[in-house]
Amino acid sequence: MKIKNSEKISRIKKEVRLDVLSIVPGLAMGPAYYFRKFSFEIDDLNYPVESIQGEIERFRRACAKTSNLLKKTKQLSSVIYDEQFLEIFESQIALLEDRIFLKEIETFIREKKHSAAFAVFSVFREKMDYFMGLENEYFRERSLDIQDLKHKMLHAIFGVGTEYQISIPSIIFAEYLSPSDTIHFSRNLVLGFVSDTGGKTSHAAILARSLNLPYAINNQNLSKIVQTEDFVIVDAYSGQMIINPTRKTIESYKELKKKYTEIDLALKEEAGLPARTLDGVEIDVLANVEFLNEIPGAHSYGANGIGLFRTEGIFLEKDGLPDEEEQYQIYRRVSEEMIDKPVILRSLDAGGDKVLKDIDHPEEQNPFLGWRAIRFCLDEQDIFKTQLRAILRANISGNLKLLIPMVSCLREIEETKKILEEVKSELRHKGQEFREELELGIMIEIPAAAIMSDIFAREVDFLSFGTNDLTQYTLAVDRTNQKIARLFNDLHPAILRLMQMTITNAHNLNKEISICGELAANPDAIPVLIGLGLRKLSMSPFIIPRIKKIIRSFSVSECESLVDHLLTLPSALQIIEETKKFFNDKISNKDLLI
Ligand code: PEP
Ligand code: MG
Repeated sequence: MKIKNSEKISRIKKEVRLDVLSIVPGLAMGPAYYFRKFSFEIDDLNYPVESIQGEIERFRRACAKTSNLLKKTKQLSSVIYDEQFLEIFESQIALLEDRIFLKEIETFIREKKHSAAFAVFSVFREKMDYFMGLENEYFRERSLDIQDLKHKMLHAIFGVGTEYQISIPSIIFAEYLSPSDTIHFSRNLVLGFVSDTGGKTSHAAILARSLNLPYAINNQNLSKIVQTEDFVIVDAYSGQMIINPTRKTIESYKELKKKYTEIDLALKEEAGLPARTLDGVEIDVLANVEFLNEIPGAHSYGANGIGLFRTEGIFLEKDGLPDEEEQYQIYRRVSEEMIDKPVILRSLDAGGDKVLKDIDHPEEQNPFLGWRAIRFCLDEQDIFKTQLRAILRANISGNLKLLIPMVSCLREIEETKKILEEVKSELRHKGQEFREELELGIMIEIPAAAIMSDIFAREVDFLSFGTNDLTQYTLAVDRTNQKIARLFNDLHPAILRLMQMTITNAHNLNKEISICGELAANPDAIPVLIGLGLRKLSMSPFIIPRIKKIIRSFSVSECESLVDHLLTLPSALQIIEETKKFFNDKISNKDLLI
């Protein structure tokens, strides 16, 4: 039998740094273990069949063997992992015990006179394709579980083992990691994961998150870059991977690692404490999320609510558009899972770099200045109305709010309100249950919106700064362009001035104002944001305990004095220097800034 040979790997001798996408933040350092699955070639599967009955027996033996292996794995796992993971094995065992499915494979062998291996390959593939074609993300992910089971069955038929054995603590590298792959590695020996493909909702990522193991994705072919036993540092905090680091780099990361671990542990313990400044002002620290499975993390990291639910995640992860019912179920669950805490659902922010597959999106010269967000929704009212209906219906307990992205003119607010009323009236007409009250907010992420905020704020219930875009549009720096990344400075005086102006306008009108751009997750910026008058900051869940602790380290009055001074400064560089100085003076625990 031919087993596909691993590709030739060119060894990297020098220290090499690569950018990685952080899926689960953290820092791992140690030897790489490149996990390869045997890949069976179609010719291997289609071996000559000597006896049909012999092949059927072979298939049955493989089923029994795989089923036993899964039962053992499940038993092993139940000690360490939660229900979610056990379900994967249960569903795989159930498939191997499904009489109709087994019969289908046996009939394939009998009627087509094919080998057991070929029958397994073909019937499993058909099932996988079916699941893959479904719109629901959950079912699409199940197709990966079926693929994994197919692999196990082929291994059992050919009697070849898998390469889960690691003897020393290692960082697992792979093209793709299935849940059972991840589980087979001894938990004590895994330091982190890096794969070519995957995503925030992949099971491997869920597993890594629940184990608090860093996980990064690098969509270059890792097998060509990393080899088992290469020493690697995966910095899934800053999004860097270092292969064959020098002794000096290792030493500096060792120090960092020790600090991170100690700090994170201590911070997590205090996650439930309020973020109260020294002079007793409580700051709401909220979570930015995209998917339902991030809600438990938001709770455990001490979020006071969801400050930004980027709903485009729901649209981007599937091939077709999600229908009203699908969206309703998701929004309803977020509302329920957050119980009485607020949840700000942002309406679809399509366009720019988030192009929906099923929309005939025109080729644009400047997509970020183009058919994006609310502009898109107001033109594609069927899509917008479907989302609004789902949100209104899901808001039975009243903790949901609606946030409109990329507002640049009054007409966009007026039209949104008009459409919202139309949707309510349609729901009333149909007799569908929904809550009439739904707070409406706008993102302040275009300079025009900040400048016009005294007018715009009258029309809405709340405002939220999107400093990622506000910086991009104010400084004319494409946020996705690496080449000018150094110019992307969200502490630029122009940004601070726009924020100050907007906050004053919001306060004068008694309107709530928050921030959900990445600036809120930058420790340096916290005294600036508080000094500017913000009392609601929204960020990735994992950073919340750290930011809460930082908030507890100074008073509002000293932040206000800092901001008074910063607003007189002419450059971002000077502002950053001054904020750093402020930290040095006020925060005794400098490690909070790592
Ligand atoms: C922002 O622009 O700051 C923001 C929060 O929105 P997004 O990053 O999704 O564009
Ligand atoms: Mg934005």
